Amino acid sequence: MQKHNFSAGPCILPQSVMQKAADAVVDYNGIGLSIIEISHRSKEFVAVMENARSLALEHLGLTGKGYQALFLQGGASMQFLMVAYNLLNTKAGYLNTGTWSSKAIKEAKLFGDLVEVASSKDKNFNYIPKAYEIPSGLDYLHLTTNNTIFGTQIKEIPQTDAPLVCDMSSDIFSRALDFSQFDLIYAGAQKNMGPAGTTLVVVKEEILGQVQRSIPSMLDYQVHIGKDSMFNTPPVFAVYTSMLTLEWLKAQGGVATIAQINEAKASLLYNEIDSNELFTGFVADPADRSTMNATFTINDESQADRFNKMWQDAGINGLNGHRSVGGYRASMYNALPLASVQVLVDVMQEFQRTA
Ligand SMILES: *Cc1c(COP(=O)(O)O)cnc(C)c1O
Repeated sequence: MQKHNFSAGPCILPQSVMQKAADAVVDYNGIGLSIIEISHRSKEFVAVMENARSLALEHLGLTGKGYQALFLQGGASMQFLMVAYNLLNTKAGYLNTGTWSSKAIKEAKLFGDLVEVASSKDKNFNYIPKAYEIPSGLDYLHLTTNNTIFGTQIKEIPQTDAPLVCDMSSDIFSRALDFSQFDLIYAGAQKNMGPAGTTLVVVKEEILGQVQRSIPSMLDYQVHIGKDSMFNTPPVFAVYTSMLTLEWLKAQGGVATIAQINEAKASLLYNEIDSNELFTGFVADPADRSTMNATFTINDESQADRFNKMWQDAGINGLNGHRSVGGYRASMYNALPLASVQVLVDVMQEFQRTA
């Protein structure tokens, strides 16, 4: 039976990427060896790393603009502290829009003073704060553009003189923005780019080298840049598969094209959530709704078992909401076809019709 994978992460990847990655594990490009058993210093793998790095910059429109792309390890969670280690001298600002922002704040507090410029914690993060003051003199301002757990997304990027640092784990390469307004972007691969095991960091080089403390080599962006993202053995399979996804994205027409498809998928589902009397969207203001993760609850809990059976029978996977929100979460990352969203919408309509 065909599966419709709405998993929040690790998540769906394009079928063609999966096939190429599987083939490369057995025999990479006919060389008689697997991609995971050759030296990361071999010309074959160096070409993979360089291609992945340059495709990442290309998709963001940042080629030749003073940025470097790195494929690191430790997940987005490692970036929570690595950002502060490398950039926080005295004071940084954080917008607290969810669990991941809160975790980033906790780690960064070990390195200096933090200003929480605004928070939506008062309403279990069901909205994006707006119209808040950003103090001057910040070493950087940190945002989480897409809040994977709660299903909110920042649509208007705040303006600030401070370097802008952004966790884009769950919406990287999903929409067109002027990415040159960001000074550092990081994203765990497993939400919209590849398998778990690598984290993309895109950093404007000029913001580095300005902190007083000494930084351990493995946590120092400049060390990784100096070694072309090969300071130590990189996670070769995760980087290779991410490169395949970035090539796939280019063949689709890039970020601008995928963004339109993502909008279509999101409106299809949100229209159903709004018009179906048996469900309620979790996010307070429709303007804050994520195109990647749609969160909603069922109005009559006693009907949950019936609904759960219906979507499972339809081949849908990964629809349960995060425990801190409950209900349902449909993650509609780049590789999820519109047809899968239609299957979910059909199930929701059938559920209402047979209520
Ligand atoms: C999943 C997620 C993380 C955590 O990523 P890890 O790679 O597991 O450390 C951080 N931020 C956001 C926005 C996420 O969605």
